[in-house]
Amino acid sequence: MSKIYVCPICKVEVKSTESYFPFCCKRCQTIDLGRWADGSYSIAGEPIPDHDDENISIH
Ligand SMILES: [Zn+2]
Repeated sequence: MSKIYVCPICKVEVKSTESYFPFCCKRCQTIDLGRWADGSYSIAGEPIPDHDDENISIH
């Protein structure tokens, strides 16, 4: 019983014994790291809303 993994970059089947697992090769691993580094992946997700509706009276 062995689960089948696929490379998240190029979607080819990857064995769990692969050196670059879960990637199929060093190139895909580098591409994935690069995506995180340059901010292509949105980690934060939600934008910070403006709080214009806070009615604070300052005298
Ligand atoms: Zn790949």
